[in-house]
Amino acid sequence: MTKQDIVTQVNQAYAKKRADAQARALAVLQNVLRDKTFETLYYKKKQLEFDIAKHEFFKEDCSSLKNTYLQTQKEIQTYLQKHHLSEKDFEPTYACPICQDTGRVNGNICACYKEAVRNALKQACIGNRNLAVFDDWREDVATNQEQRAELQKAKVYLQKLVHAYPKLLHKTWVFAGCTGVGKSFALECVTSAFLNRGVDACIYTSFQINELFLKYHTTFTEEKEQYMNQLLEPSVLLIDDLGTEPMLNNVTINYLYLLLTERMSAGKTTFFTTNLSPNNILERYGERVFSRLCSTKDAKWFKFIGDDLRLSLTKKSLKKE
Ligand SMILES: [Zn+2]
Repeated sequence: MTKQDIVTQVNQAYAKKRADAQARALAVLQNVLRDKTFETLYYKKKQLEFDIAKHEFFKEDCSSLKNTYLQTQKEIQTYLQKHHLSEKDFEPTYACPICQDTGRVNGNICACYKEAVRNALKQACIGNRNLAVFDDWREDVATNQEQRAELQKAKVYLQKLVHAYPKLLHKTWVFAGCTGVGKSFALECVTSAFLNRGVDACIYTSFQINELFLKYHTTFTEEKEQYMNQLLEPSVLLIDDLGTEPMLNNVTINYLYLLLTERMSAGKTTFFTTNLSPNNILERYGERVFSRLCSTKDAKWFKFIGDDLRLSLTKKSLKKE
């Protein structure tokens, strides 16, 4: 699903929400109008409003009409009070009173609409999964001062990177480093930050993308394209743990190369985390993928250094007990 599809969905939901609120209010009114006394008063008031406006337009005296209007209005109030109603019950109750569920206020986008698009993006990209956010970032899990400083630097750098998007010098980003230095966590934080910015970003494990490649490869019905489109459509695609997927003949390398080439030529941004070094990538995926993932022109490598943070986290939590 593209961001445009998601925005269209949100627009449709807003139109429905607004129409539903209006229909509910109209139903209340129509129900009360079934009473003849109220019906007479209601249409008398409407007619008077029209007549007064007409007189005012032609600058004619309408003081007696106005008196009758006030009297009718009073009678309506008395009727409604007797039936535990008020004129407010005939007005639509909108989910957002600020924009009345139009999504726009004075030509600007309402905060509720921005939130709705963000939520729809999240739902489309990650479902109900909870991703880490930069606020969860903890430097104190590092075992030494050097790694703590590196983690702090990495956080600032990545936040700037998301902020600078789409004006990034590189379309492909690789977070490299040993197991447990915080790459996957960082990738989740980056994904969350993109989604919060309203960017259609999708995160997958390399295992999941390999499965989509396999489905694409082995499907011959019209569903085929959707498997690859899931990976080609998002403006930002984030793939965790490249190198841990099983190597499937005629699938993994071919479609990874296709994915990289197609996304690059469409000007879309792709992130990877990996434990592999450039040499490992050359050995595992061959020259074509290597050139896409490791050429300094196309790809930017970001190295996470230090010890396994997961181990130090366990040690810390053990210490507390
Ligand atoms: Zn609103």
